[in-house]
Amino acid sequence: MHCPYCSYSDTKVIDSRLISEGLQTRRRRECTECGERFTTFESAELLMPKVIKQKNNTREPFNEQKLREGLYRSLEKRPVGDEEIEKLIEDIKKDIRASGEREVPSRLIGEAVMKNLRKIDEVAFIRFASVYRRFEDITEFSEEVEKLTND
Ligand SMILES: [Zn+2]
Repeated sequence: MHCPYCSYSDTKVIDSRLISEGLQTRRRRECTECGERFTTFESAELLMPKVIKQKNNTREPFNEQKLREGLYRSLEKRPVGDEEIEKLIEDIKKDIRASGEREVPSRLIGEAVMKNLRKIDEVAFIRFASVYRRFEDITEFSEEVEKLTND
C-alpha cells in the first residue's frame, strides 16, 4: 500500500478492526517516510452482476468506485462518517446481489442506492435522487419527493 501523501511504498498498520458485521476490515496506516496517517478499507470481492444500460442496452461491469463517488458527493457536509458510507455501499451491493441475476438493469442499482441512502440521510437521498433522476425519468423523481413529504 503506497502512501497517498508522498507515494512511499512502505506503510505500517497501526490499527485494524472488523466493521460492517465482519465483512470489512478497517485499517489505520502510517507512512514510515512522511508520518502521515490514512485509513484503508478491505473487503472480499464478491461477484457483482453486470449492469444493463437503459439507453442503449449495453452491458458494463458494476463500478463500485462510481457508486462510492456518487455517494460521497451526495453526502458532502452531511453528518455521516466514512465507515457508515462503506457500510452503506456493502448494503447496496448486498441488495443488488440479492436479485440473483447475472445482469441487472441500471435502474435496479439506482433503486438500491435510494432505498439504503434514505435510511441514513434524507438530505443526501434527495441530492442523489435529483441527480440520478435527471438521467432517468423526471416524473419518477417528483414522485419520490412527494412520497418523502407525505411521510
Ligand atoms: Zn508518506
